[in-house]
Amino acid sequence: MKRCHVLTLFPGFFSSPLSETLLKRAREKGALDVNLVDIRGFSEGRHKTADDAPYGGGAGMVLKPEPIFRAVEAVRRSSQSPLRVVLLSPQGKLFSQETVREYAESPKDLVLICGRYEGVDERVAAHLADEELSIGDYVLSGGEAPALVVLEAVARLLPGVLGAEESARFDSFSEEGILDHPHYTRPPEFEGMKVPDVLLSGNHEEIRKWRRREALRKTLAARSDLLARARLAEEDKRILKDLETESS
Ligand code: SAM
Repeated sequence: MKRCHVLTLFPGFFSSPLSETLLKRAREKGALDVNLVDIRGFSEGRHKTADDAPYGGGAGMVLKPEPIFRAVEAVRRSSQSPLRVVLLSPQGKLFSQETVREYAESPKDLVLICGRYEGVDERVAAHLADEELSIGDYVLSGGEAPALVVLEAVARLLPGVLGAEESARFDSFSEEGILDHPHYTRPPEFEGMKVPDVLLSGNHEEIRKWRRREALRKTLAARSDLLARARLAEEDKRILKDLETESS
């Protein structure tokens, strides 16, 4: 079972996403355990203050270090496994499928710290977190949505979570590092838009070749940066050459 601890000021943010579809299934199957930790519970004083004004002045508030250090310490004491402590931050390394795989396969419990306001006191990044992680080059108001992104991406790779009819193996960025091929379903024609004939042919070898070509076409058009690192067979290289000539 993969154990994840989410440190947040807003545990209620997670109630619906954790009780629906994939995350619900992963938890019910015992593949994933999500422990929501309210940072405020580790704050001191009558008002349980978890944030304060920034040193040096300026707008907004900053999450205080003490409640977060204490919350991680409490998780460490209660956990039987070592921890991987991740601070969600737009300043972190970009989240990728490679990191998803690493988290899913690691025996360590995953601790996700959700910031808010102007962010988190820098001592958390410098002395508590193993890494800072960003889900993209944009700024959200808190780390809760990024934490859900991480949880769902990791849950999909845990054994037994995806049904027999689903597979993460051929998804974009997975084994071969390119984008997935296009998918179609019934009807074969909709308002003049037709499903490619080959997909209705029943010829498995032709379908395989078409899917590979179209996956490479999409990758070349939208994410040619992936091709430098992708695991390409000789057949793929020939297709790419062909596609390049086709588009020139
Ligand atoms: N002042 C910070 C900056 O410009 O780098 C942004 C703080 S943001 C408004 C508040 C919190 O949202 C962050 O501490 C982080 O936990 C979370 N957050 C926002 N965007 C994020 C992203 N792209 N990836 C991960 N976490 C993010």
